[in-house]
Amino acid sequence: MNLYFINTIITTTINIINIIKKDDKMEEYDIIIIGSGPAGLTAGIYAGRQGSKTLLLDKGLTGGNGLEVPSMENYPGFELIAGMSLIAKIKKQTEKNAEIRELEEVKSVEGKEEGFQVKTNKNSYFAKVIIFSTGTRNRLLKVPGEEEFKGKGVSYCATCDGILYKDKDVLIIGGGNSAAQEAIFLKNVGCNVTLVHRRDELRAEKYLQNKLKEKKIPVIWNSVVEEIKGNRMIESVVLKDKDNNKKEIKTQGIFIAIGDIPNSKIAKDLGLELDDYNYIITDKNQRTNQKHVYVAGDVTGGVKQWVVACGEGAIAATSAFHDLEHPS
Ligand code: NAP
Repeated sequence: MNLYFINTIITTTINIINIIKKDDKMEEYDIIIIGSGPAGLTAGIYAGRQGSKTLLLDKGLTGGNGLEVPSMENYPGFELIAGMSLIAKIKKQTEKNAEIRELEEVKSVEGKEEGFQVKTNKNSYFAKVIIFSTGTRNRLLKVPGEEEFKGKGVSYCATCDGILYKDKDVLIIGGGNSAAQEAIFLKNVGCNVTLVHRRDELRAEKYLQNKLKEKKIPVIWNSVVEEIKGNRMIESVVLKDKDNNKKEIKTQGIFIAIGDIPNSKIAKDLGLELDDYNYIITDKNQRTNQKHVYVAGDVTGGVKQWVVACGEGAIAATSAFHDLEHPS
């Protein structure tokens, strides 16, 4: 036997021992919930109260996009509340029932006998059940200057950055609920805000449209962003209307609120069925096409409202518990 061969055998043996050791050390949970927005947090409350050992993992801070909602007037029980405040309340309640680990990004979920192996950037876990509540991320305009001026006048979060633009001219792009709400928020913090929408009518709910009128927020209709220009910070935005006429508008900020994209890649890699827009397909009990895998919240598409996400989180955890207790 030559030295190279012996060395290979030793290295392979050490690797196998390491893999076994790592698996032995894997922390075990009944339920791992991926994503800690309103859906994941509510699933955590329900899972913990059912007696399941539950872990929530989030690549960012608890709350996800929920932290960015400036104000809500349609969450039952609260006439007016900021997303951040409501998340803080729900988080406190969840922590009594489940463990939350922030800044821990799930890299993969792999089906194993009797459960799943969840690998993150920090650890490896075993869980009998997985609940995906991974939400969505901002859709990008994909125009020249967007990437270059991110954080230098280009923002996707009025709640986070709005105050920096007090007394300044800003544009908000989009025609949905987010754009309307953020425009109102920006006006309230003292920005000179103008809404830019690609059509001649808004998608936002009527009550938000009325508020835009009340606040006298001007709208530039039938226009899209062609380019974002500047030097160190943004200085202007080139708009193009439906007749292809271009005009350059001076502005110090541009807030982009043009919808979202589902975070479903890991679910897809696990073999979950997605629809044509990459939302995870679920039945009315939040079950997916894979046994012991459930889904809740915006990543399922449909009505993207907090109250719906919370409801789906509750259903997902209840179905998971039922299926564990009644194996077929
Ligand atoms: P949305 O409803 O999908 O609206 C996106 C808007 O951006 C639409 O007006 C769309 O124009 C426009 N748009 C899309 N791509 C564009 C592009 N490349 N250039 C210019 N404009 C573009 O998204 P959202 O407002 O972020 O809302 C997402 C979901 O969350 C919705 O279901 C909404 O109801 C919900 N939401 C609820 C609340 C609440 O609790 N009250 C608050 C915020 C959001 P078109 O209209 O022409 O398609």
